[in-house]
Amino acid sequence: MREHNAKVQEKVQHFKCFIHNMRNLHKHLRSACIKQTKGMDRLLYCKKLATAIRTRVRLELTRLRKLLRGDELYLARARETVTNVLDCFSGSHDRCKHKSVFCTAHLKGHSTRYLPYGKIVVLSAADKQQLQKVLDKYCGVQQLRDTVQLHNTNRCENMHSRLFSYASKSMVWKRSFTALCYSATLGASVGRGLSLLQFAERCGINIEASDPMYRYAMFTQNIARYHSDRKQKHEYKTSRYLSHRKRE
Ligand SMILES: [Zn+2]
Ligand SMILES: [Zn+2]
Repeated sequence: MREHNAKVQEKVQHFKCFIHNMRNLHKHLRSACIKQTKGMDRLLYCKKLATAIRTRVRLELTRLRKLLRGDELYLARARETVTNVLDCFSGSHDRCKHKSVFCTAHLKGHSTRYLPYGKIVVLSAADKQQLQKVLDKYCGVQQLRDTVQLHNTNRCENMHSRLFSYASKSMVWKRSFTALCYSATLGASVGRGLSLLQFAERCGINIEASDPMYRYAMFTQNIARYHSDRKQKHEYKTSRYLSHRKRE
């Protein structure tokens, strides 16, 4: 897909997995070991701090995503949030009102339980800079854009494999590539049946409700919905969890 990209110079977005990005963030925060820990076990403290930061970033981003539908709005707010986390953890909440959707410092029952040992984080300028650098690397503008849908691995890989099988490299013709990608992505986001109808409409084909094609499309859509609903059910998740547990 990349080779094609270079030739046609069209922007194809490659989604990255949000979970993995957060995991990498955590790993690097942990190893960006800070110096000032005042008599506490340094490694343990760094680990706790990394976990606290990762949790906060994840919660902020997922909630922001729910609040803001538009990608650009979300991206702007997400960047602000990421630059504010360390200040908030150090106890200066001046900008939290605008930059955080999770800080509870303004509430009466505010507790610092989420911080390592429940204590406000004291960082030297150098330590803070080091941590912020890691945050910027994994939650910079480009990284946030790559994970803008906050997809987990399954959905990411699903989307990629879908794209590759619909528009595989060997059979791609320049002219149809965009259409194939479009159709595949649309199919993944609104469902196969509906995407077929929308796609037909875009192409100027008029499908009436009595057409067999319309009926077929709605049938596919309903079947797909049944399966995806089933996957959301608790029993299904539990049984999958149990059958997958040993392998991990
Ligand atoms: Zn991943
Ligand atoms: Zn705050």
